[in-house]
Amino acid sequence: MSECNHDCSSCKSKCASAENAAENPFYVAPNPLSNVKHVIGVVSGKGGVGKSLVTSMLAVAMQRAGYHAAILDADITGPSIPRAFGLHDVEIVGNEDGMFPVNSKTGISIMSLNLLVDEESKPVVWRGPVIAGTVKQFWSEVIWNDVDFMFVDMPPGTGDVPLTVFQSLPLDGIVIVGSPQELVSMIVEKAVNMAKMMNIPILGLVENMSYFVCPDCGKKISVYGESGVEKLAEAHALPILEKLPIDPKLAHMCDTGTIELMQEEYMQEAVRVLEALSEK
Ligand code: ADP
Repeated sequence: MSECNHDCSSCKSKCASAENAAENPFYVAPNPLSNVKHVIGVVSGKGGVGKSLVTSMLAVAMQRAGYHAAILDADITGPSIPRAFGLHDVEIVGNEDGMFPVNSKTGISIMSLNLLVDEESKPVVWRGPVIAGTVKQFWSEVIWNDVDFMFVDMPPGTGDVPLTVFQSLPLDGIVIVGSPQELVSMIVEKAVNMAKMMNIPILGLVENMSYFVCPDCGKKISVYGESGVEKLAEAHALPILEKLPIDPKLAHMCDTGTIELMQEEYMQEAVRVLEALSEK
């Protein structure tokens, strides 16, 4: 058989690419030189709830557990991912086969639109379909070499870009992130239902900004009221992967590009759930 170019329209072979394309017309083939074992989407109902922080922490936790983790940053609303890993002024290189992701200090492979724009503070004023196209290119044109777990930092909500990612990338499942209030809101319920309608497994829930520990007396204070995660978990029979506190140390690590130095053993339940995917 001649070399596969993943363009099924010009080929009659019944290979895995052809099967995927027949099953799902939105399927986008990966770069032929890529090898990605598991793809996990990280989603939230709205922005600013810590989705990028959780994506970064999941990648750090899996890398520490001995896997090769990667982040495909599909959330162009801000440079959160490059910033959390201290990636500034890095040059993206490539060759005729594709582009190479950037490697963080501990070897997490990262590709982000924010690495391709010259000024971090300039907004990317692109319409949904253009952004969606870029995200597909990050899958089809970037050479993701021997990645065990890729985390896709999805734009918030259930709009164009999340829909494109859901349809065109071979997601093994998604992790839903929200604040205590947000996890009981309609918008998260919609994200849950969208994943269900598209037969994408929900691997679990992360409640961010769940509580604050008083530095003087050690008391846990539920700043945003009672936790919403239990209700959502119960309603949809979903596991709770983590409840993260509001912690100035976390904000500081994100701001200073040192998330890989995270001391606390966060995300251990998520590591177990993801490892179980590997064993299937
Ligand atoms: P999103 O990706 O949902 O828009 P981010 O992960 O970029 O949100 O987080 C928004 C801001 O809130 C960032 O500055 C981040 O450092 C901060 N932040 C998020 N979660 C926490 C937390 N648990 N404790 C302290 N700061 C947090």
